[in-house]
Amino acid sequence: MLELGKYKKELSDYLNRADNILLICHINPDGDSIGSMLALFSYLSSKGKNVGMISPNYLQEFLLWMKGADRINIFIRDRNICLKQIEKADLIIMLDFNQSNRLGEAEKPVLQSSARKVVIDHHLDSDNFYDLIISDPGRSSTAEIIHELVCMLNDGLFNEISYAEAIYVGIITDTGNFEHGSFTGNTFRLIADLLDTGIDKDRIFNLVFNNFTESRTRLLGYALYEKMVVIPEYKTAYITLTRDELKRFNYHRGDTEGFVNLPLSINGIDFSALFIEKEGFIKISFRSRGDFSVNSFAGKYFQGGGHFNAAGGDYYDSLENTVSYFLDMLKKERKSEE
Ligand code: 5GP
Ligand code: MN
Repeated sequence: MLELGKYKKELSDYLNRADNILLICHINPDGDSIGSMLALFSYLSSKGKNVGMISPNYLQEFLLWMKGADRINIFIRDRNICLKQIEKADLIIMLDFNQSNRLGEAEKPVLQSSARKVVIDHHLDSDNFYDLIISDPGRSSTAEIIHELVCMLNDGLFNEISYAEAIYVGIITDTGNFEHGSFTGNTFRLIADLLDTGIDKDRIFNLVFNNFTESRTRLLGYALYEKMVVIPEYKTAYITLTRDELKRFNYHRGDTEGFVNLPLSINGIDFSALFIEKEGFIKISFRSRGDFSVNSFAGKYFQGGGHFNAAGGDYYDSLENTVSYFLDMLKKERKSEE
């Protein structure tokens, strides 16, 4: 595991020299990206820093309850405010991604900005668009790294409930409440400290995982019953959902979150894909169990990336052609068991 202590001096120096700090999460932000951003916002603000927050696009509804979420500017909605924030910033800290295209429409202004740029992340295979990167794919989440960095800068636990909640949300969303992902003994030692601050873990669990609409639960049933294709000879299963189908089930942002994990619970299936039809392209999520790297698969064929066992990408074609291309690449990359 990466030793974070070595970054203390350099990171303190970046923070001390900055008058206007801007935090940015990735497009389609998840609980880790938002949790990391809100936690760092809470800590830096408490130290009297001038801090702003931007998300490239809208937050999923299950994250809106978090303290500070209403202070995040949405680039595609608040474009002028965000452009001013980017222009004014002398330090930009990017959270939970390592490829600049994850900034969405904010990519160009951020890359053109003369601000110093820091990436804090835990994904594989980073691009080079920063001055400093603090990244450890061995950590469960970016939130785990943020917490250790904050403890280090603060010379001890930063004991504030909304901060602890934000870190906790980051960790439980990236591990599916400790079901998958690279959580370690280190994660649990840190969780122990977070629980000791008095956060209500059951309330947070319910807000994050038991907060769906009826139509989302029915969409899940439909996806698994009607739309899941299992290919036993390639130990693979995939689900496709069209825009019309999503509309039929009254789709809201985040409704398909977690669907891609479910085919992996089938005995004999160790690779799963979810294809969601968007406007003009297909968004794909991949998950695997064991030694098949979906990060490599997504990077090689779908301009994407992520983690060894959880990744995503895009493909600019129809749903039908995307699936057909996927099946060809599947056959190329994986041996048939027949
Ligand atoms: P999800 O499938 O839940 O959207 O994402 C799984 C993991 O892959 C996350 O860590 C996410 O950051 C990463 N990921 C998802 N889509 C993309 C993409 O288009 N490009 C890259 N580089 N990473 C992605
Ligand atoms: Mn993450």
